[in-house]
Amino acid sequence: MLRVENLVRRFGGITATDNLSLDVARGELHAIIGPNGAGKTTLISQLTGQLLPNSGAIRFAGREITTMPSYKRSALGLARSFQITSLLTDFTALDNVALAVQAHDGHSFYFWGSARNEKHLREAARSALARVGLGHRADVVVSELSHGEQRELELAVALATKPQLLLLDEPMAGLGITESARMVKLLQELRQEVTIVLVEHDMDAVFALADRITVLVYGRVIASGAPSAIRQNEEVRRAYLGDQHAVTDHA
Ligand code: ATP
Repeated sequence: MLRVENLVRRFGGITATDNLSLDVARGELHAIIGPNGAGKTTLISQLTGQLLPNSGAIRFAGREITTMPSYKRSALGLARSFQITSLLTDFTALDNVALAVQAHDGHSFYFWGSARNEKHLREAARSALARVGLGHRADVVVSELSHGEQRELELAVALATKPQLLLLDEPMAGLGITESARMVKLLQELRQEVTIVLVEHDMDAVFALADRITVLVYGRVIASGAPSAIRQNEEVRRAYLGDQHAVTDHA
Protein backbone atom coordinates (compact mmCIF):
# COMPACT_ATOMS: atom_id res chain seq x y z
CA MET A 1 0.00 0.00 0.00
CA LEU A 2 2.88 2.33 0.78
CA ARG A 3 6.35 2.15 -0.68
CA VAL A 4 9.17 4.50 0.24
CA GLU A 5 12.28 4.28 -1.92
CA ASN A 6 15.68 5.75 -1.12
CA LEU A 7 14.20 8.80 0.57
CA VAL A 8 16.62 11.57 1.56
CA ARG A 9 15.81 14.74 3.51
CA ARG A 10 18.47 17.08 4.81
CA PHE A 11 18.27 20.04 7.19
CA GLY A 12 21.50 21.97 6.69
CA GLY A 13 24.25 19.55 7.67
CA ILE A 14 21.87 17.00 9.21
CA THR A 15 20.55 14.12 7.13
CA ALA A 16 17.27 13.45 8.94
CA THR A 17 16.16 10.85 6.37
CA ASP A 18 19.11 8.94 5.00
CA ASN A 19 18.41 6.81 1.94
CA LEU A 20 15.40 5.29 3.65
CA SER A 21 13.32 2.54 2.05
CA LEU A 22 10.20 1.04 3.59
CA ASP A 23 7.15 -1.01 2.58
CA VAL A 24 3.82 -1.05 4.36
CA ALA A 25 1.41 -3.82 3.34
CA ARG A 26 -2.33 -3.31 3.17
CA GLY A 27 -3.94 -4.28 6.47
CA GLU A 28 -0.83 -4.27 8.61
CA LEU A 29 0.01 -2.17 11.62
CA HIS A 30 3.55 -1.06 10.99
CA ALA A 31 5.36 0.62 13.89
CA ILE A 32 8.32 2.94 13.43
CA ILE A 33 10.55 3.28 16.45
CA GLY A 34 13.93 4.78 17.24
CA PRO A 35 15.68 7.15 19.64
CA ASN A 36 14.91 10.88 19.83
CA GLY A 37 16.04 12.63 16.67
CA ALA A 38 16.09 9.40 14.62
CA GLY A 39 13.90 11.04 11.97
CA LYS A 40 10.51 9.47 12.68
CA THR A 41 8.47 12.68 12.55
CA THR A 42 10.47 13.90 9.54
CA LEU A 43 9.50 10.69 7.73
CA ILE A 44 5.80 11.05 8.62
CA SER A 45 5.85 14.67 7.43
CA GLN A 46 7.19 13.56 4.07
CA LEU A 47 4.50 10.89 3.82
CA THR A 48 1.79 13.49 4.37
CA GLY A 49 3.39 16.14 2.17
CA GLN A 50 4.14 18.69 4.89
CA LEU A 51 7.80 18.29 3.97
CA LEU A 52 9.25 17.44 0.58
CA PRO A 53 12.22 15.09 0.28
CA ASN A 54 15.49 16.08 -1.37
CA SER A 55 15.41 12.84 -3.34
CA GLY A 56 13.76 9.44 -3.44
CA ALA A 57 10.18 8.39 -4.07
CA ILE A 58 6.96 7.70 -2.18
CA ARG A 59 4.20 5.56 -3.69
CA PHE A 60 0.77 5.13 -2.16
CA ALA A 61 -1.88 2.74 -3.46
CA GLY A 62 -0.04 2.41 -6.75
CA ARG A 63 0.47 6.14 -7.35
CA GLU A 64 3.57 8.21 -7.02
CA ILE A 65 2.84 10.91 -4.43
CA THR A 66 6.38 12.18 -3.70
CA THR A 67 5.61 15.83 -4.43
CA MET A 68 1.82 15.72 -4.30
CA PRO A 69 0.23 18.39 -2.05
CA SER A 70 -1.20 17.22 1.29
CA TYR A 71 -4.84 17.83 0.40
CA LYS A 72 -4.58 15.54 -2.62
CA ARG A 73 -2.94 12.80 -0.51
CA SER A 74 -5.75 13.19 1.96
CA ALA A 75 -8.31 12.81 -0.84
CA LEU A 76 -6.53 9.56 -1.84
CA GLY A 77 -7.02 8.21 1.67
CA LEU A 78 -3.93 9.15 3.62
CA ALA A 79 -4.64 10.67 7.05
CA ARG A 80 -2.39 11.83 9.84
CA SER A 81 -3.33 12.20 13.45
CA PHE A 82 -1.92 13.74 16.58
CA GLN A 83 1.15 15.92 16.43
CA ILE A 84 -0.35 18.36 13.94
CA THR A 85 -4.04 18.07 14.71
CA SER A 86 -5.42 21.16 16.34
CA LEU A 87 -8.85 20.75 17.83
CA LEU A 88 -11.13 23.76 18.10
CA THR A 89 -11.34 23.89 21.87
CA ASP A 90 -14.46 26.10 22.10
CA PHE A 91 -16.50 23.78 19.88
CA THR A 92 -18.11 20.47 20.73
CA ALA A 93 -16.62 17.10 19.88
CA LEU A 94 -19.34 16.64 17.23
CA ASP A 95 -18.64 20.03 15.64
CA ASN A 96 -14.93 19.24 15.36
CA VAL A 97 -15.55 15.99 13.52
CA ALA A 98 -18.31 17.49 11.34
CA LEU A 99 -15.89 20.19 10.21
CA ALA A 100 -13.30 17.57 9.29
CA VAL A 101 -15.87 15.70 7.21
CA GLN A 102 -16.92 18.94 5.55
CA ALA A 103 -13.33 19.95 4.73
CA HIS A 104 -12.61 16.51 3.31
CA ASP A 105 -15.74 16.60 1.18
CA GLY A 106 -14.40 19.77 -0.38
CA HIS A 107 -17.17 22.02 0.90
CA SER A 108 -14.99 24.41 2.82
CA PHE A 109 -16.73 27.29 1.08
CA TYR A 110 -19.84 26.57 3.13
CA PHE A 111 -20.54 28.79 6.06
CA TRP A 112 -19.74 27.20 9.39
CA GLY A 113 -23.37 26.92 10.39
CA SER A 114 -24.01 24.46 7.60
CA ALA A 115 -21.57 21.86 8.97
CA ARG A 116 -23.46 21.88 12.21
CA ASN A 117 -26.86 21.59 10.57
CA GLU A 118 -26.26 19.29 7.65
CA LYS A 119 -27.59 15.86 8.33
CA HIS A 120 -25.04 13.81 6.41
CA LEU A 121 -22.15 15.65 8.09
CA ARG A 122 -23.62 15.13 11.53
CA GLU A 123 -24.27 11.46 10.86
CA ALA A 124 -20.76 10.82 9.57
CA ALA A 125 -19.39 12.69 12.59
CA ARG A 126 -21.53 10.74 15.04
CA SER A 127 -20.42 7.48 13.54
CA ALA A 128 -16.71 8.45 13.80
CA LEU A 129 -17.25 9.48 17.43
CA ALA A 130 -18.96 6.18 18.18
CA ARG A 131 -16.02 4.27 16.67
CA VAL A 132 -13.63 5.81 19.19
CA GLY A 133 -16.02 5.38 22.13
CA LEU A 134 -16.97 9.05 22.37
CA GLY A 135 -20.57 8.75 21.22
CA HIS A 136 -21.85 9.83 24.64
CA ARG A 137 -19.57 12.91 24.64
CA ALA A 138 -20.64 14.32 21.26
CA ASP A 139 -22.12 17.53 22.67
CA VAL A 140 -19.34 18.29 25.15
CA VAL A 141 -17.08 21.25 24.41
CA VAL A 142 -13.49 20.09 23.67
CA SER A 143 -11.96 22.09 26.52
CA GLU A 144 -14.08 20.04 28.93
CA LEU A 145 -12.89 16.69 27.60
CA SER A 146 -10.07 14.88 29.42
CA HIS A 147 -6.66 14.66 27.76
CA GLY A 148 -7.32 11.02 26.82
CA GLU A 149 -10.70 11.92 25.35
CA GLN A 150 -9.12 14.70 23.29
CA ARG A 151 -6.70 12.14 21.86
CA GLU A 152 -9.61 9.88 20.99
CA LEU A 153 -11.36 12.82 19.38
CA GLU A 154 -8.28 13.53 17.26
CA LEU A 155 -8.49 9.94 16.11
CA ALA A 156 -12.19 10.40 15.27
CA VAL A 157 -11.29 13.50 13.24
CA ALA A 158 -8.78 11.44 11.23
CA LEU A 159 -11.21 8.52 10.81
CA ALA A 160 -14.00 10.80 9.65
CA THR A 161 -12.16 11.27 6.35
CA LYS A 162 -12.39 7.48 5.79
CA PRO A 163 -8.65 6.94 5.32
CA GLN A 164 -7.08 3.85 3.80
CA LEU A 165 -3.86 4.54 5.65
CA LEU A 166 -3.69 6.19 9.05
CA LEU A 167 -0.41 7.75 10.16
CA LEU A 168 -0.26 8.09 13.95
CA ASP A 169 2.48 10.20 15.48
CA GLU A 170 2.89 9.28 19.17
CA PRO A 171 -0.75 8.69 20.11
CA MET A 172 0.24 7.61 23.64
CA ALA A 173 2.26 10.75 24.41
CA GLY A 174 1.10 12.35 27.65
CA LEU A 175 -1.45 9.65 28.46
CA GLY A 176 -1.66 8.00 31.88
CA ILE A 177 -1.68 4.22 32.34
CA THR A 178 -5.46 3.83 32.09
CA GLU A 179 -5.75 6.18 29.12
CA SER A 180 -2.89 4.41 27.33
CA ALA A 181 -4.56 1.06 27.86
CA ARG A 182 -7.77 2.48 26.35
CA MET A 183 -5.85 3.81 23.37
CA VAL A 184 -4.15 0.43 22.79
CA LYS A 185 -7.54 -1.27 22.89
CA LEU A 186 -8.97 1.27 20.47
CA LEU A 187 -6.06 0.84 18.05
CA GLN A 188 -6.49 -2.92 18.29
CA GLU A 189 -10.05 -2.46 17.04
CA LEU A 190 -9.21 0.09 14.36
CA ARG A 191 -6.44 -2.02 12.88
CA GLN A 192 -9.12 -4.46 11.70
CA GLU A 193 -10.43 -1.72 9.41
CA VAL A 194 -7.52 0.45 8.35
CA THR A 195 -3.80 0.13 7.63
CA ILE A 196 -1.82 1.96 10.30
CA VAL A 197 1.70 3.40 10.50
CA LEU A 198 2.43 4.06 14.16
CA VAL A 199 5.29 6.17 15.50
CA GLU A 200 5.48 5.55 19.22
CA HIS A 201 7.92 5.58 22.14
CA ASP A 202 5.74 3.38 24.37
CA MET A 203 7.36 0.02 23.68
CA ASP A 204 4.70 -1.97 25.53
CA ALA A 205 2.12 -0.51 23.16
CA VAL A 206 4.33 -1.06 20.10
CA PHE A 207 5.03 -4.70 20.90
CA ALA A 208 1.38 -5.32 21.77
CA LEU A 209 0.12 -3.86 18.49
CA ALA A 210 2.63 -4.14 15.66
CA ASP A 211 2.68 -6.73 12.88
CA ARG A 212 6.01 -5.31 11.78
CA ILE A 213 8.45 -2.86 13.30
CA THR A 214 10.98 -0.68 11.51
CA VAL A 215 13.80 0.77 13.60
CA LEU A 216 15.37 4.09 12.62
CA VAL A 217 18.66 5.47 13.88
CA TYR A 218 20.11 8.69 12.45
CA GLY A 219 17.57 8.63 9.64
CA ARG A 220 18.52 5.11 8.55
CA VAL A 221 16.63 1.83 8.81
CA ILE A 222 18.75 -0.45 10.99
CA ALA A 223 16.18 -3.26 11.15
CA SER A 224 12.69 -4.09 9.93
CA GLY A 225 10.66 -7.19 10.70
CA ALA A 226 8.30 -9.01 13.02
CA PRO A 227 8.34 -7.94 16.69
CA SER A 228 10.03 -11.21 17.69
CA ALA A 229 12.89 -10.61 15.25
CA ILE A 230 13.26 -6.99 16.35
CA ARG A 231 13.44 -8.00 20.02
CA GLN A 232 16.27 -10.37 19.28
CA ASN A 233 18.20 -8.09 16.95
CA GLU A 234 21.58 -7.24 18.50
CA GLU A 235 21.99 -3.91 16.75
CA VAL A 236 18.51 -2.79 17.83
CA ARG A 237 19.22 -3.74 21.43
CA ARG A 238 22.43 -1.78 21.41
CA ALA A 239 20.99 1.26 19.65
CA TYR A 240 17.61 1.53 21.27
CA LEU A 241 15.79 -1.16 23.15
CA GLY A 242 18.35 -2.07 25.76
CA ASP A 243 17.52 -5.30 27.54
CA GLN A 244 14.05 -4.47 28.76
CA HIS A 245 12.20 -5.54 25.64
CA ALA A 246 14.86 -7.83 24.31
CA VAL A 247 14.83 -10.52 26.95
CA THR A 248 12.10 -12.95 26.04
CA ASP A 249 9.86 -13.66 23.16
CA HIS A 250 8.47 -16.98 24.24
CA ALA A 251 5.25 -15.83 25.88
P1 ATP B 1 11.50 12.38 18.52
O1 ATP B 1 11.41 10.94 18.90
O2 ATP B 1 12.27 13.18 19.54
O3 ATP B 1 10.17 12.99 18.15
P2 ATP B 1 12.19 11.97 15.73
O4 ATP B 1 12.71 10.59 15.54
O5 ATP B 1 10.79 12.25 15.36
O6 ATP B 1 12.46 12.44 17.22
P3 ATP B 1 12.82 14.18 14.01
O7 ATP B 1 12.02 15.15 14.80
O8 ATP B 1 12.29 13.72 12.71
O9 ATP B 1 13.17 12.91 14.91
O10 ATP B 1 14.27 14.82 13.81
C1 ATP B 1 15.31 14.20 13.04
C2 ATP B 1 16.51 15.13 12.95
O11 ATP B 1 16.20 16.21 12.09
C3 ATP B 1 16.92 15.73 14.28
O12 ATP B 1 18.33 15.84 14.29
C4 ATP B 1 16.25 17.09 14.26
O13 ATP B 1 16.98 18.01 15.05
C5 ATP B 1 16.32 17.45 12.79
N1 ATP B 1 15.21 18.30 12.35
C6 ATP B 1 13.90 17.94 12.32
N2 ATP B 1 13.15 18.95 11.84
C7 ATP B 1 14.00 19.98 11.57
C8 ATP B 1 13.85 21.30 11.03
N3 ATP B 1 12.64 21.75 10.66
N4 ATP B 1 14.95 22.05 10.90
C9 ATP B 1 16.17 21.58 11.22
N5 ATP B 1 16.40 20.35 11.72
C10 ATP B 1 15.34 19.55 11.90
